Amino acid sequence: MYCPYCRYPDSRVVDSRTTDDGLAIRRRRQCPDCGRRFSTTETASLSVIKRSGVVEPFSREKIVSGVRKACQGRPVTDSDLAVLAQRVEETVRLSGAAQIEANDIGLAILQPLRELDEVAYLRFASVYQGFDSLDDFEAAITLLRVEHDQAASGVTADGSGTPE
Ligand SMILES: [Zn+2]
Repeated sequence: MYCPYCRYPDSRVVDSRTTDDGLAIRRRRQCPDCGRRFSTTETASLSVIKRSGVVEPFSREKIVSGVRKACQGRPVTDSDLAVLAQRVEETVRLSGAAQIEANDIGLAILQPLRELDEVAYLRFASVYQGFDSLDDFEAAITLLRVEHDQAASGVTADGSGTPE
């Protein structure tokens, strides 16, 4: 590959090691022309099997555009979506598989989306988990409420009451 500093069309590998999770190889390279060093990361290419059976390359942009629809009108920024897509990619790569079902990607989106915005999460979950009745929404909302209560009970003050 080209040197990212001077565009010299070759580089020399000076160090090569597998990352701690075993899912990538990081190489330290040196440009023989300008002498500067840079790193490259090699990972297995990841493909997605769509419900139609079509296989296409994994793309963070597709995750962002899919989730953005659920976030319409919500206080979610582009950089929030970029971080979410990165987390999803890390999650699906942890499986070590080279091909991922589109549905598994949908499931990997749920947890980080819930942390980001609960309304967007409910919209997204209703599609990916196939909610087909109000009961499904109610069950999902009840679960969110239970978790809120658990979180709130952990930060309760001494309970001595408000001054009157
Ligand atoms: Zn160079």
